[in-house]
Amino acid sequence: MLICAATNNVGKLKELKRILEKQGHTVKSQKELNIFLEPEENGTTFEQNAKIKAQAICKASGIATIADDSGLAVDALNGEPGVYSARYCGVHGNDEANNDTLIDALQSIPEEKRTAQFVSAVCFMLPNGREITVTGVCKGSVIQERKGSNGFGYDPLFVPNEIGCKDGSTVPNNEHLTYAELEDWQKDAISHRGKALAQLETQLEDFFESLFVMESK
Ligand code: IMP
Repeated sequence: MLICAATNNVGKLKELKRILEKQGHTVKSQKELNIFLEPEENGTTFEQNAKIKAQAICKASGIATIADDSGLAVDALNGEPGVYSARYCGVHGNDEANNDTLIDALQSIPEEKRTAQFVSAVCFMLPNGREITVTGVCKGSVIQERKGSNGFGYDPLFVPNEIGCKDGSTVPNNEHLTYAELEDWQKDAISHRGKALAQLETQLEDFFESLFVMESK
């Protein structure tokens, strides 16, 4: 299926394309479709923000659209930066400054209390307004110094509890590798975004079937 990816975040777009194309879809970014909107993310949950973005960009693209709203929720910070992950340092989308802000905020927190989870809410929206929203979570912890150079955002600071294997299974992350030290497939198999999109894949068929039933009544 042809799907518009409602994001201007280069790192996120790369992952959305990688995972959705593996599932057999064709993905066009909003930029490739000449859509330069940046909808205001004024929801208080990942799910609300994913829907806000999907709705606005779907209206502009006129085709099935996917939006991901995601972020890192740190237990010792009462779930922060959470929905504010992209602008934790005060400005939008400065990964380096966001990582510095997180390092500072966790300075006095001991290793065993640095638990956190990455969350991704994915909203799949059709031009007729029907939508499906799924959420994926990846549990792990935050380290005090950056490690690794792959990925984007908080990847160099986040150590997931598990990593993916080539056969699709998962194993404990005994080497304490960060997201930024994983191969793409190792991250996609266990990441918040990978899990959300895997859920979407399993639910899409039923979703379309229920639409067909509704419309034929
Ligand atoms: P938003 O969903 O566009 O509001 O932004 C999500 C923000 O969360 C990004 O700018 C990153 O800072 C962070 N983030 C989300 N997913 C990931 C990921 O997979 N790795 C690292 N950081 C991420």
